[in-house]
Amino acid sequence: MHSNWQHVIGQDRVKQSLQSAIRNQRIAHAYFFWGNAGVGKDALALEFAKTLVCLKQTVEACGECSSCKKMTALQHPNIKLIFPLPGSDGEKSDDDKPLENDVLEEVRKQISEKASNPYFHIDIPKAKFILIKSIRDIKRECSMTGAEQGKKIFIIFDADRMNDASANSLLKVLEEPLDGVHFLLVSSRKDAVRQTILSRCQMVQCSTLSDDEIAAALTERMAFEERQAHIVSRLANGNYTRALDLLGEDITAYRADAVKFLRSVLGSSSLKFFEEQDEYLTGNKRDNAEQLLTMLLVWFRDTIVVREDSQKNILNVDQETELNNFVGKFGTKNLEACMSSVERALGLLRRNVYLPLVMLSLSVHIRRILHAK
Ligand SMILES: [Zn+2]
Repeated sequence: MHSNWQHVIGQDRVKQSLQSAIRNQRIAHAYFFWGNAGVGKDALALEFAKTLVCLKQTVEACGECSSCKKMTALQHPNIKLIFPLPGSDGEKSDDDKPLENDVLEEVRKQISEKASNPYFHIDIPKAKFILIKSIRDIKRECSMTGAEQGKKIFIIFDADRMNDASANSLLKVLEEPLDGVHFLLVSSRKDAVRQTILSRCQMVQCSTLSDDEIAAALTERMAFEERQAHIVSRLANGNYTRALDLLGEDITAYRADAVKFLRSVLGSSSLKFFEEQDEYLTGNKRDNAEQLLTMLLVWFRDTIVVREDSQKNILNVDQETELNNFVGKFGTKNLEACMSSVERALGLLRRNVYLPLVMLSLSVHIRRILHAK
């Protein structure tokens, strides 16, 4: 039987394994969802929880019952969301202070945002850790659980952000499993979580989303124009949350940066190149550089498409003339090698290699390829 958990993009392997756990009534006491940021770990945990409390009790939440409706609004009394909150770094007394009103308001706002978009990342200003207070609340809730109340589920987002006190306390909770109580821990940084906690959980590895999966989601869910969706999906690098953020950003500005970079690489004067690219060669604009390189990658991809004479497939639809001019001038050069150079540079950048070095070496490569006799 195939079910789709349609609120979650991709992740078919994980969906199937969780659904088969439900079908076989072999639901673990605790799960640890891990994988890169923005791949849908939260969305999976939320959908799993919703399915577990749905009154229809199948492998797909019905979306109609009173339980599903409460969960859709993230207001289900049996499902608690835990995430980092502002508080002292300390272990004890200060953390028992109630949250300030403005913090409560922010929490309310962000939970409602999360309800409408499970890919939204809850990030309360000034929050550093999951507070010991939050774990104490779990203990209190657990002690009130009666069999007749149904399953109780605690979803812990950013589970790597625990201090010693909260980690110790959570470990104790995990060590004493209670019937009908489940923990769904979620983290993009598994390495930052104690082995003792991980060993209490069933691991759920979430894969990085492909560009195609992200592009399809953008066109289907956000009614986004297909070619733009492809550009955004490249820029998002497997992170759907990032893709959604990019919808609000000016990606043509990134492309303008890329074209400017290419122009100065190809320019006659190296002195001018150093002047023009000063921010990338001396500064540390790593995020911008990543967008610039991705747009450069899309640009080279388009030049190859134009050269192969299939104009209809270009992504930079508004740049047809520029692309044609470029191909007229450099079409005989090894454009594939340019793409590989940009891909390599992106890889180095993501591995935190010194930015000016990456950009300088890339510019030397591109210049050599495009000016080759
Ligand atoms: Zn339901």
